[in-house]
Amino acid sequence: MGARAGYRGAGGQELAPAEVVDAGTYNSLVQIDVLDLEFQGSPHVIASFLVHGPQGPVLIEPGPGSTLPTLLAGLEERGVRPGDVRDVLVTHIHLDHAGSAGWWAQQGARIFVHGIGAPHLVDPSKLLGSATRIYGDRMDSLWGEVLPAPAERVVAVEDGKVLEVGGLEITAVETPGHAWHHHVWVLGDIAFAGDAAGILLPGNDWIDLPAPPPEFDLPAWKTTLERLRGLGLSTLYRTHFGTGSDPQRELAVFEQTLIQGVEWVREMLERQMDRDGMVREFSRRMRARARNLGVSDEDALRYELSNPRSMSVDGIARYLRKGRERNP
Ligand SMILES: [Zn+2]
Repeated sequence: MGARAGYRGAGGQELAPAEVVDAGTYNSLVQIDVLDLEFQGSPHVIASFLVHGPQGPVLIEPGPGSTLPTLLAGLEERGVRPGDVRDVLVTHIHLDHAGSAGWWAQQGARIFVHGIGAPHLVDPSKLLGSATRIYGDRMDSLWGEVLPAPAERVVAVEDGKVLEVGGLEITAVETPGHAWHHHVWVLGDIAFAGDAAGILLPGNDWIDLPAPPPEFDLPAWKTTLERLRGLGLSTLYRTHFGTGSDPQRELAVFEQTLIQGVEWVREMLERQMDRDGMVREFSRRMRARARNLGVSDEDALRYELSNPRSMSVDGIARYLRKGRERNP
């Protein structure tokens, strides 16, 4: 699936495609391909983004090790060999976004990642330990191989850093909430949002809330959404999955889902519901909300595959309990 990110000039006019992309101006056209990694055999769950820079390709969100063959086939179809990919950007280190980063680093690519995430790409043992606690014996079939990245290939990036990659300027915007070490990558008026703008599958209106433990944080996420709204984006690329249609509206709608999700879990904790009961009730409410917005049963499963509901319950409950410890 190919997508072109159209830029608008200062007067809002649609600009013609430029032959050569001037890295200094955003009012150009950059070809961006959304590669469907067909996670667990399903379309529209995990995307990877191939940005055709004037000086070479940039890969954003290489995805897990389990989908590496699909990614490589998608790149090959577009005439890109693994050795052509010199720069790989990840929004955060969760395995569905960055599980194959170590493999890419071993091929010689530079991996750009938030400073907190960087050591975990070099030594993924802690990351794998916590994922194994969640996924158990499904680790390998879900995520495949997670290789350590050679330290010299990993570039720790701070908020506001402007990368020069593939002849383009891409800015890191620190966007905590889903994880402390989360960056949104901004190229002119488009952004690669990772999980910071929620989960929105093609053809749907329902924006789901990915709130995993241990770093989910409501106030941080609200600040992130405010920051993203302030960027005046024309296009948001979500790893789960692709582009929506109206970034400003979607960010506002997502904020409501975020607040509502936390309220639901707070209410269940107050009723002293056990964990399994909370997962059942939370899933029921989320599913009912999605169904009301016309989400098909098939897409509901894809949402669940992108974002297990039990994880959001655990993440929000942990966040609320921590808050209670701070302010008993
Ligand atoms: Zn994540």
